[in-house]
Amino acid sequence: MYAVAEVIDDSCVAHKGCRLCIMYCPEADTILFDKEKKVAVVVEQRCKGCELCVVVCSAAKHNAIVLVHR
Ligand code: SF4
Ligand code: SF4
Repeated sequence: MYAVAEVIDDSCVAHKGCRLCIMYCPEADTILFDKEKKVAVVVEQRCKGCELCVVVCSAAKHNAIVLVHR
């Protein structure tokens, strides 16, 4: 099993300009802004499960990313 991040679309406020997870993710091109859905989206294959995105999103009280186990 390994952990990857997953965005909860209904909680994500990227449509209001939030980009915290995108800015803080240490892996390049791993969290992207989905222009159609207007939410952040995690490229699972690139995610290392470091949890930094979860920490920054939670610190901002959005709670829109969780780690899931595959
Ligand atoms: S930090 Fe959270 S609310 Fe902000 S864009 Fe990322 S998932 Fe969405
Ligand atoms: S868990 Fe780490 S590597 Fe994966 S998307 Fe979040 S910040 Fe990026």
